[in-house]
Amino acid sequence: MKFDFKEERILAVVAHPDDAELLCVGTLARARQDGAAVGICVLCQGEKGQPSTPIKSLAAARKKEMQAAAKLLGAELFLTDFPDGTLTDDYASRLRVVEIFRQFEPTLVIAHAPEDYHPDHRAASALAEATSWFCASRGQKTKTGAMSASPAVWWMDTVNMSGFAPEFYVDISGWQQTKEEMLSCHTSQLLRGNDGDFSPLTELMRQQYQTRGSQCGVPAAEAFRAHHAFKRARAW
Ligand SMILES: [Zn+2]
Repeated sequence: MKFDFKEERILAVVAHPDDAELLCVGTLARARQDGAAVGICVLCQGEKGQPSTPIKSLAAARKKEMQAAAKLLGAELFLTDFPDGTLTDDYASRLRVVEIFRQFEPTLVIAHAPEDYHPDHRAASALAEATSWFCASRGQKTKTGAMSASPAVWWMDTVNMSGFAPEFYVDISGWQQTKEEMLSCHTSQLLRGNDGDFSPLTELMRQQYQTRGSQCGVPAAEAFRAHHAFKRARAW
């Protein structure tokens, strides 16, 4: 059985520029080829992800990197510009993400796993989960009106697969190139691969899609779990 994403509108909600590339962009690229509309919502600026030789105006540099990557995929890009480390699941932040959901109208949201290692990723996960409910609530007012239904939610793998138990896999064989080309847009982060405290990202990503692929018998895969909550669960 293979998913057909043709009728879907898929929004990846991630904490930092480059998170989508590492964890779910192969799936987005496959969905694009099926005919789906895809979007990436990046919540934080990524301005604290400095390499050992600091880059001036890193937030601006990372925005450009993310825009170039999204363009390669043909994805609509939403940036909320929260400073790194400040992301929390509070009411004001929820409303900002609710408005983005209402503008894009996703049928499927791909979000960080609640057990992710990074505090910003966990906050992004909680925000995406709350928003997947409130976007369809007419009582929650934002500029754009309420969606008619909540989107389905999938939790995505964690970086280095740490602590994530997959429920299913998406075969991304044939889309590895898109993942690699998009990741290569993030030059500020690739520079960090030379730092002792940061893994070389391309290697890490390759190892991950190959390992997830080997677990399900294909050359490359991305791993997910579905959120089995009321009105967020779907039949595929
Ligand atoms: Zn991140």
